[in-house]
Amino acid sequence: MAFGPVNAGLLLDLTDALSLKFDRPVAVGPQIKVPAQALDEECGQYLAGAFLSRLRDMAGGKGSKLLGVTEVDLYGLGLNFVFGQADVGGPASVISLARLYPDNADGNGHELFQARALKEAVHELGHTFGLEHCRDRFCVMHFSSGIAETDIKSHDFCPRHAGKLDA
Ligand SMILES: [Zn+2]
Ligand SMILES: [Zn+2]
Repeated sequence: MAFGPVNAGLLLDLTDALSLKFDRPVAVGPQIKVPAQALDEECGQYLAGAFLSRLRDMAGGKGSKLLGVTEVDLYGLGLNFVFGQADVGGPASVISLARLYPDNADGNGHELFQARALKEAVHELGHTFGLEHCRDRFCVMHFSSGIAETDIKSHDFCPRHAGKLDA
């Protein structure tokens, strides 16, 4: 579910990768508007929680999970910025691409960007399936307070979290 214009190629890549990862069908929803009331005009960022409530309103029950993807920069209550946010065990999650673009795009800049987006998407969707943060820094459920931590972790779940996801 794109909030505002989002790179269409990236959305398709994410769709395929997430479908494989979670072993369920994934569809790209319609593009919806960035919630204007979520903008903090001083910092120019948007409150992530407002995106989640928008998605909760759209969730039709039936256990389906919604992932919002946006180019705008997000923040959380008490957090300068967030790569994403989700309801633990709920239907709604969101990621921002704003801080995932590599600084100096050398040859594999796009691949790095894609890999980061996938990790953040898997992480937030992991929360919607009830998973909490992990101390294993290679587990995708490890909390990233900066992009370096995102780059260290893999897009895979540690054995403990993989087991919980299957259960
Ligand atoms: Zn998290
Ligand atoms: Zn883990």
